Amino acid sequence: MSGDKALAPDAAELLDRTRRLLAEHPPATTDRTDFLRARFDAGLAWVHYPVGLGGLGAPRSLQAVVDAELAAAGAPDNDPRRIGIGLGMAAPTLLEFGSDAVKERFLKPLWVGEEVWCQLFSEPGAGSDLAALGTRAVRDGEDWVINGQKVWTSSAHVARWAILIARTDPDLPKHRGITYFVCDMTDPGVEVRPLRQITGEAEFNEVFLTNVRIPDAHRLGEVGDGWRVAQTTLMNERVSIGGARIPREGGMIGKAAATWRARPELRTHDLHRRLLDLWVDAEVARLTGERLRQQLVAGQPGPEGSAMKLGFARLNQAISALEVELLGDEGLLYGDWTMVRPDLVDFTGRDAGYRYLRAKGNSIEGGTTEVLLNIVAERVLGLPPEPRNDKDVAWKDLAR
Ligand SMILES: Cc1cc2nc3c(=O)[nH]c(=O)nc-3n(C[C@H](O)[C@H](O)[C@H](O)COP(=O)(O)OP(=O)(O)OC[C@H]3O[C@@H](n4cnc5c(N)ncnc54)[C@H](O)[C@@H]3O)c2cc1C
Repeated sequence: MSGDKALAPDAAELLDRTRRLLAEHPPATTDRTDFLRARFDAGLAWVHYPVGLGGLGAPRSLQAVVDAELAAAGAPDNDPRRIGIGLGMAAPTLLEFGSDAVKERFLKPLWVGEEVWCQLFSEPGAGSDLAALGTRAVRDGEDWVINGQKVWTSSAHVARWAILIARTDPDLPKHRGITYFVCDMTDPGVEVRPLRQITGEAEFNEVFLTNVRIPDAHRLGEVGDGWRVAQTTLMNERVSIGGARIPREGGMIGKAAATWRARPELRTHDLHRRLLDLWVDAEVARLTGERLRQQLVAGQPGPEGSAMKLGFARLNQAISALEVELLGDEGLLYGDWTMVRPDLVDFTGRDAGYRYLRAKGNSIEGGTTEVLLNIVAERVLGLPPEPRNDKDVAWKDLAR
């Protein structure tokens, strides 16, 4: 049914369904989780997903109609920041490559936020060059046995499930011997250790995997085809990081502009000009993100998401730096440096110093700026690729 455009509901029908949901589950008197579950069952979670999986096979653009109606009625939100990796990265990959049983099992608790997800991709020695990864998956009957180490794993300490890539054939060139799995973070072989970052928080972790058993039923895609599956995740990651829907002045620029308005004594002519430039850049980035989302309606996310993520990182760093400068000595104060393990990243809820330090990670997480520039050069501009001498060499023979 999802592929049958003739049966896909239009805006009027979605509005009607949304009003029915609100009438049957009034937000004021319905438990938050119960409401979100009912919303998923009504196909109003992500309307472009198939029937039975939280959607109605409707055009993706019509989600806005549902969201606006729900927001106006004070309905609870599923807090995409907390479950960002699940929603932004795991879900589209599960949808495209998971078996029916996998989709049925995982998508609802993921969307509702009852199960948090993390992403076990990066390793010491396999970050930008992710395909060099060395975590091994060896087949044993109906299971795979996983051994290795991952690093920089955001939310691993609160995650119930992980998307994981591991090497299944070291004799093949690096991109071809990788397979993609869903990993149970409660398995006794999974050890999560906090990594403290520049902000003082431990938002991410090292994850050690020792004889972790993953059923073959939790494999996504074919054996050895994990790199292709991972591309779906990574393209969605960039869109998800760079293309979040925000209102005008909703991001870091809102905080800087608010300080500007409230504190006339801090203003200088030079800062004024720079703030205006950044305000315009932030608005351009916001509207570009909107266009990217509309483009998504037509199909898969393209490499343009990489350009969006690049712009987002640069802008966040420029705005947070300007805010610290604007505040002068006050900008150097730092609230609290005790190590906490937050459930979510709060870009705008804390002080300017936190924003400045946390924005440093924006040009590393989800692909570094240098590597995204390479992607834009090759896939958007069609420039010649970087020379590579490891394309046809077995992974086990690569220098490490
Ligand atoms: C806040 C944060 C959260 C993260 N969360 C997760 C997570 O949840 N899950 C996960 O799996 N990973 C996560 N990461 C890891 C992140 O994806 C990697 O750090 C990133 O891909 C870079 O890899 P690396 O750290 O190994 O650096 P390297 O790849 O070693 O790069 C070092 C430097 O060399 C440059 N470089 C490398 N190759 C090239 C090239 N070909 N051309 C030009 N320059 C190049 C890089 O741009 C960079 O400046 C997170 C990172 C951060 C900072």
